[in-house]
Amino acid sequence: MRIENDIKLDFADVLIRPKRSTLTSRKNVDLERGFTFIHSGRDWTGIPIVAANMDTSGTFEMAHALVRHKMITALHKHYSVAELKTFFADFGHADYVAYSLGIRDEDFEKLNDVLDAGLGDQFNFIVLDVPNAYLERFILNVEKIRFLCPKHTIIAGNCVTNEITEEILLRGVDIVKVGIGSGSACTTRRMTGVGYPQLSAVIECSDAAHGISNPNTGVGLVMSDGGAVYPSDAAKAFCGGADFLMSGQFFSGFEQSGGELIEKDGLKFKQYYGMSSSAAMKKHYGSVAKHRASEGREVTLPFRGDVNDFVNELLGSLRSTATYIGALKLKEFSKRTTFLRVNNQLNLSMERYE
Ligand code: 5GP
Repeated sequence: MRIENDIKLDFADVLIRPKRSTLTSRKNVDLERGFTFIHSGRDWTGIPIVAANMDTSGTFEMAHALVRHKMITALHKHYSVAELKTFFADFGHADYVAYSLGIRDEDFEKLNDVLDAGLGDQFNFIVLDVPNAYLERFILNVEKIRFLCPKHTIIAGNCVTNEITEEILLRGVDIVKVGIGSGSACTTRRMTGVGYPQLSAVIECSDAAHGISNPNTGVGLVMSDGGAVYPSDAAKAFCGGADFLMSGQFFSGFEQSGGELIEKDGLKFKQYYGMSSSAAMKKHYGSVAKHRASEGREVTLPFRGDVNDFVNELLGSLRSTATYIGALKLKEFSKRTTFLRVNNQLNLSMERYE
């Protein structure tokens, strides 16, 4: 047994120190980033925010909405090949959509069917998603997918420490997904006691990833996945060195989100559940397997309307952070950052009147 004594931080444990700025207007802030991915060699530009591959956020409707903002949607893995065929027939923006899979045999069979159906060039990103990227089986699957899809940009995880980040990148992944136990629908910390505060995970994994480079393409990248509650958490993730941000809760509860719309006493709600929740397991597999505990929660969210309004608010918040820290571009966020460790991140004095 060993104890690490240095304090690990969540988004809620810090604020960002303001810095002298020459910016005259938020409008001048450039939130797009351009990358050349280390293994796929593909160039990409866009706003590096991704709707998670959950039933509630990774929908076709979300992809149609987010592509207008040059943001990516990771489609959830439960769409059938026929449904994907219909969607891709008129989507046409391979740079802003990801195909997701896990490491079950059925996942690979379906990927082969999707490629055989000629859909492989309709999406430039593949998300290989498991709750625990520390399994040897996961690493073997990374190599299998890289071999099968040499030209796709592979996003894979999840992990939270530098050594596995490096290993995953060296085995052929372009973007490592970082986050264990921090997702809003996640009960992993409660059920297993395992996890890592999200901001520290991002800081440590991005440092490791950015140290791996290919002179002909780019460097290893990370995607902070989960735990962003407020728009400010997206800013904190980018300030901490995240290249991409993935979120489920940001993109749930909207018209474009999945999950049932529920009306109660004249108010509208939308169902929200984790992908390892009993609700998801029952929906997709008929029951919760005996050897597994549910590691996801299920809640109803107040209905939030059109996701485009939220996206505009989110991007406005990021532009505002940029003006406070003097960053002209999203790319400069981490260079312009000094984090302050705080006891209270929010001023809640008026909250009781709302
Ligand atoms: P959020 O942005 O909502 O805080 O977190 C989204 C992330 O939570 C997802 O991208 C995924 O990595 C993780 N996640 C989604 N469903 C579950 C679940 O049922 N259990 C756990 N442990 N994690 C989940």
